[in-house]
Amino acid sequence: MLYAEVVVPVPVRSIYQTFHYWVPEALQSELLKFSRVEVPFSGRLIQGFVIGFGEPPRLAKIKSIKGIVEKKPFLDEELFKTAQWMSQRYLCGLGDALHCIAGSSVPSRKDEKYSKGLFATVNNSDQAGLVRAPKQKLALEVALAKPGLNKMELATASSTSVAVINALIEKGLLKEKFLQIKEDISFHGKLPQLTKEQSFAVGEICQALTAEKPSAWLLHGVTGSGKTEIYLRIIQDVLKINRQAIVLVPEIALTPQMVHRFKTRYGNQVALLHSGLSQGERYAEKVRIRSGTAKVVLGTRSAVFAPTPNLGVIIIDEEHESSYKQDENPKYHAREVALQRAAQYKSVVVLGSATPALESFCRARQGGPYKLLRLTQRVDHRELPQVHIVDLREELARGNTGIFSNTLKKALSKRIEKKEKSILFLNRRGYATVVVCRQCGQVIKCPRCDISLTLHTNGLLRCHYCGYGTGAPKKCPQCASTAIRSFGLGTQRVEEEVKQLFPDVPVLRMDADTTTRKGSHQKLLDQFIQGNASVLIGTQMIAKGLDIPAVTLVGVVNADTTLHMPDFRAAERTFQLLTQVAGRAGRGETEGEVIIQTYDPEHFSILNAQQHDYINFYQKEMTTRKVLRYPPFSYIIRILFSGLNEGDVISAAQSWQERLTVIAKKVGNVDIEVLGPAPAGIPRIKDRYRWQLILRGSVSRDIRKIAALVLEQAGIRFKQVSVSIDVDPLTL
Ligand code: ADP
Ligand code: ZN
Ligand code: ZN
Repeated sequence: MLYAEVVVPVPVRSIYQTFHYWVPEALQSELLKFSRVEVPFSGRLIQGFVIGFGEPPRLAKIKSIKGIVEKKPFLDEELFKTAQWMSQRYLCGLGDALHCIAGSSVPSRKDEKYSKGLFATVNNSDQAGLVRAPKQKLALEVALAKPGLNKMELATASSTSVAVINALIEKGLLKEKFLQIKEDISFHGKLPQLTKEQSFAVGEICQALTAEKPSAWLLHGVTGSGKTEIYLRIIQDVLKINRQAIVLVPEIALTPQMVHRFKTRYGNQVALLHSGLSQGERYAEKVRIRSGTAKVVLGTRSAVFAPTPNLGVIIIDEEHESSYKQDENPKYHAREVALQRAAQYKSVVVLGSATPALESFCRARQGGPYKLLRLTQRVDHRELPQVHIVDLREELARGNTGIFSNTLKKALSKRIEKKEKSILFLNRRGYATVVVCRQCGQVIKCPRCDISLTLHTNGLLRCHYCGYGTGAPKKCPQCASTAIRSFGLGTQRVEEEVKQLFPDVPVLRMDADTTTRKGSHQKLLDQFIQGNASVLIGTQMIAKGLDIPAVTLVGVVNADTTLHMPDFRAAERTFQLLTQVAGRAGRGETEGEVIIQTYDPEHFSILNAQQHDYINFYQKEMTTRKVLRYPPFSYIIRILFSGLNEGDVISAAQSWQERLTVIAKKVGNVDIEVLGPAPAGIPRIKDRYRWQLILRGSVSRDIRKIAALVLEQAGIRFKQVSVSIDVDPLTL
């Protein structure tokens, strides 16, 4: 008899609890350690992972494994250790951690032929009869020169659009074929001569790389200082010693621009892992990574788990980005996982940012565990853009109640005249923020979430949390007064205003409402880069990563939207966002200009963003954090309780609070605090009430231990209330 020890993603008594199953004869030859299997569990079939073989402790009611889901497991000893570490670090079940690392299961199509690319069916573009279609001719020429690109890549490389490529496919001039892996693609272009600062950084990191001692580097470099070029050079050395690299970028920054840069340098050795891939594509990429054919993994957060058998470096670009932290269970941070994996491989972690997270900079400053490398100059000594601050209170006093100050209006029309491009940034989509009754003060809220509804130009009020939509009321639902009006500002409203001011100027808007369809994000960008649109309006989607030389003006319509959020990171977020947005201006020959509109022009986040002064910002913000005992001066665990009945939710929170307090006393560490229960930042979402506890202390291990002990106590589970634990939450 053969028994397998299986980990399943269900709530278990302890994070180490496993279950034993009998392995049927037919499966015995195929089943491996770490195989993903299907097993019966409480009357249903679920997926789990085999983590070992052996006799069960007691031979009672053993069920058998139903089937093997994945023949060749992507998990290995190293990733398994990472899962164990995750379950302790984030207080999640081992099964949840393994599922998170392995990702969703394989598709039915088990081809290992990898992704498809486009190939020309003619040898010469002159034979194609495209005299009347110059764009198609151009794209065909690029396809001849660079066979194997996919649609998006070809569109970008030829500065055309996907529509143009589709037309060529329809005419039979391009064909999609499976790519054969070519390993010998090498870069023949000329590499730029590194600046002094760049070559120092590359030198230090590559030395660490060959020393085979784990190390972590914080690369603090102003926008445009050539960080990406440094990543590319490090990878060059990683490939020389026959190891693999993982490069993480925030979701939004994974534009074809970035992909193109890596692919032109490292060709088919690059594997992509991001949410835009189909399951089949994702699987194919993982196969290439596991086999070692793909040596450079470029991807978003979950690519940190890429099954690299021979990891040499993990690079995290824009390391301060909140998208590196997963919202759902397990609530991991890619930066922490990267450090963990790198330690196992004795490899190197590189964190890059113009505005590092406070925690990261603090760790680097205190001499460890990160080493600090700085790039103070932009490549080619291009100037950082001039930033003007406009005091909206003065505008109001002058009788200007519009969205745009005179300064911004003038600057816009000047750029439009000169046929240059402008970006207008506002961190809020929709038309107006809230609809309020002027008679009784009632704010129209979502009936399911405790949050105000946002007015959109189609007249609908929408909830940005649950998607609930309703017509805008003509009368106040509370007092029936008709004196209701909308307040606040969203991107749709800005668009309308620009169109009124400049009726003949083509305008584009990019936010969650205009980019719901796959590929629409890139389409809008292409339109802005190649088309005649002079103004792009958008939310934080446009703040990062864009490198559009024609953009000479960036206007921040209202800097205060992030400043006054009830969040201990509000000042940091604002500084980061403003610095990033400002970095979009002046990437070409012409000098850039940035205009920030605010009601709070003396705020240090705004002033330091104006001066491009990270260090000063850091020092000021650290003082505040210290006084209020927020991270990095403490560690926090947030425990969130939610349920349909508020009474149940509160009493669950109270019972946790009591137990936490008792155990904290036993641990005897005086600096541990249990704060709450208190309503969460958003007190209700989708009809579920939300209350929270904050556990705070100066040693992360201590508070995690306390929470783990409570979690393991019998009788702490509730039927009607779910408990969600967030270690090192980004917001409270
Ligand atoms: P960052 O990632 O810090 O914003 P990039 O690496 O994107 O900066 O560099 C900005 C621009 O400068 C890119 O177009 C890049 O190709 C170019 N560049 C980078 N390093 C050099 C160099 N040493 N010499 C010339 N151009 C460079
Ligand atoms: Zn809602
Ligand atoms: Zn009213």
